[in-house]
Amino acid sequence: MRKITKSDEEWKKELDPKLYHIAFEKGTEAPFSKTLTPSKDGIHRCSVCGNELFSAKAKFESGTGWPSFYEPIKPDAVEYAEDRSLGMVRTEITCGKCGAHLGHVFDDGPKPTGKRYCINCVSLGLEKK
Ligand SMILES: [Zn+2]
Repeated sequence: MRKITKSDEEWKKELDPKLYHIAFEKGTEAPFSKTLTPSKDGIHRCSVCGNELFSAKAKFESGTGWPSFYEPIKPDAVEYAEDRSLGMVRTEITCGKCGAHLGHVFDDGPKPTGKRYCINCVSLGLEKK
Protein backbone atom coordinates (compact mmCIF):
# COMPACT_ATOMS: atom_id res chain seq x y z
CA MET A 1 0.00 0.00 0.00
CA ARG A 2 1.41 3.35 -0.95
CA LYS A 3 1.81 5.76 1.90
CA ILE A 4 0.80 9.37 1.68
CA THR A 5 3.38 11.69 3.11
CA LYS A 6 2.57 15.33 3.49
CA SER A 7 3.92 17.86 5.89
CA ASP A 8 1.85 19.06 8.83
CA GLU A 9 1.58 22.42 7.11
CA GLU A 10 0.10 20.86 3.99
CA TRP A 11 -2.46 18.88 5.98
CA LYS A 12 -3.34 21.93 8.02
CA LYS A 13 -4.27 23.85 4.87
CA GLU A 14 -6.42 21.04 3.49
CA LEU A 15 -8.29 19.79 6.52
CA ASP A 16 -11.03 21.08 8.76
CA PRO A 17 -9.34 22.40 11.96
CA LYS A 18 -11.16 19.90 14.18
CA LEU A 19 -10.15 16.99 11.98
CA TYR A 20 -6.55 18.25 11.82
CA HIS A 21 -6.40 18.48 15.61
CA ILE A 22 -7.59 14.92 16.11
CA ALA A 23 -5.74 13.37 13.19
CA PHE A 24 -2.34 15.00 13.57
CA GLU A 25 -2.22 16.45 17.08
CA LYS A 26 -3.73 13.24 18.49
CA GLY A 27 -6.75 14.95 19.96
CA THR A 28 -9.76 13.13 21.33
CA GLU A 29 -13.24 14.36 20.65
CA ALA A 30 -15.86 14.53 23.37
CA PRO A 31 -17.81 11.27 23.72
CA PHE A 32 -21.33 11.05 22.29
CA SER A 33 -20.44 13.42 19.45
CA LYS A 34 -22.57 11.15 17.26
CA THR A 35 -21.58 12.74 14.02
CA LEU A 36 -21.60 9.26 12.55
CA THR A 37 -24.87 7.98 11.12
CA PRO A 38 -25.72 4.62 12.63
CA SER A 39 -25.71 2.04 9.91
CA LYS A 40 -25.22 -1.68 9.58
CA ASP A 41 -24.18 -1.33 6.00
CA GLY A 42 -21.32 0.30 4.22
CA ILE A 43 -17.68 1.06 4.73
CA HIS A 44 -16.11 3.60 7.03
CA ARG A 45 -13.23 5.41 5.39
CA CYS A 46 -10.48 7.60 6.76
CA SER A 47 -11.75 11.21 6.75
CA VAL A 48 -8.29 12.42 5.79
CA CYS A 49 -7.33 10.18 2.85
CA GLY A 50 -10.31 7.92 2.07
CA ASN A 51 -8.53 4.68 3.01
CA GLU A 52 -11.03 1.89 3.81
CA LEU A 53 -10.82 1.27 7.57
CA PHE A 54 -13.83 -0.54 9.02
CA SER A 55 -16.89 -2.36 7.75
CA ALA A 56 -20.08 -1.12 9.39
CA LYS A 57 -20.79 -4.81 10.09
CA ALA A 58 -17.92 -4.89 12.59
CA LYS A 59 -19.45 -2.03 14.58
CA PHE A 60 -20.94 -2.66 18.01
CA GLU A 61 -22.49 -0.61 20.79
CA SER A 62 -19.80 -0.29 23.45
CA GLY A 63 -21.58 2.29 25.60
CA THR A 64 -18.44 4.46 25.63
CA GLY A 65 -19.86 7.18 23.38
CA TRP A 66 -17.32 6.59 20.62
CA PRO A 67 -17.84 4.41 17.56
CA SER A 68 -16.48 0.94 18.34
CA PHE A 69 -15.48 -1.88 16.04
CA TYR A 70 -14.17 -5.38 16.74
CA GLU A 71 -11.88 -5.56 13.70
CA PRO A 72 -10.49 -3.42 10.87
CA ILE A 73 -11.60 -4.20 7.32
CA LYS A 74 -8.12 -5.51 6.45
CA PRO A 75 -5.17 -6.27 8.74
CA ASP A 76 -3.07 -3.54 7.13
CA ALA A 77 -5.85 -0.92 7.04
CA VAL A 78 -4.55 0.44 10.35
CA GLU A 79 -1.21 0.63 12.12
CA TYR A 80 -0.48 0.23 15.80
CA ALA A 81 1.81 2.10 18.13
CA GLU A 82 2.39 2.09 21.86
CA ASP A 83 0.97 5.21 23.50
CA ARG A 84 2.27 6.02 26.98
CA SER A 85 0.50 9.37 27.35
CA LEU A 86 -1.79 10.22 30.30
CA GLY A 87 0.08 7.79 32.55
CA MET A 88 -1.40 4.74 30.80
CA VAL A 89 -0.07 2.24 28.32
CA ARG A 90 -2.50 2.04 25.43
CA THR A 91 -2.30 0.97 21.83
CA GLU A 92 -2.83 3.84 19.46
CA ILE A 93 -4.35 3.20 16.03
CA THR A 94 -3.40 5.25 13.00
CA CYS A 95 -4.52 5.07 9.38
CA GLY A 96 -2.33 2.61 7.46
CA LYS A 97 -2.18 4.98 4.52
CA CYS A 98 -1.84 8.56 5.76
CA GLY A 99 -0.84 8.05 9.39
CA ALA A 100 -3.77 10.04 10.82
CA HIS A 101 -4.57 9.29 14.47
CA LEU A 102 -7.86 7.38 14.69
CA GLY A 103 -8.21 6.24 18.29
CA HIS A 104 -7.10 3.34 20.48
CA VAL A 105 -7.61 -0.42 20.62
CA PHE A 106 -8.46 -2.25 23.84
CA ASP A 107 -8.73 -5.93 24.79
CA ASP A 108 -12.28 -5.85 26.15
CA GLY A 109 -14.22 -6.16 22.90
CA PRO A 110 -16.81 -8.77 21.91
CA LYS A 111 -16.34 -11.99 19.96
CA PRO A 112 -14.94 -13.02 17.56
CA THR A 113 -11.79 -10.93 18.12
CA GLY A 114 -12.14 -9.70 21.71
CA LYS A 115 -10.82 -6.34 20.53
CA ARG A 116 -12.45 -2.95 20.86
CA TYR A 117 -11.31 -0.38 18.31
CA CYS A 118 -12.45 2.91 19.82
CA ILE A 119 -12.45 5.56 17.10
CA ASN A 120 -13.15 9.30 16.96
CA CYS A 121 -16.29 10.01 14.88
CA VAL A 122 -14.60 12.82 13.04
CA SER A 123 -11.90 10.44 11.77
CA LEU A 124 -14.44 8.28 9.97
CA GLY A 125 -16.57 8.87 6.93
CA LEU A 126 -19.31 6.44 5.94
CA GLU A 127 -19.77 5.22 2.43
CA LYS A 128 -23.07 3.46 1.90
CA LYS A 129 -23.14 0.49 -0.39
ZN1 LIG B 1 -5.95 8.01 6.14
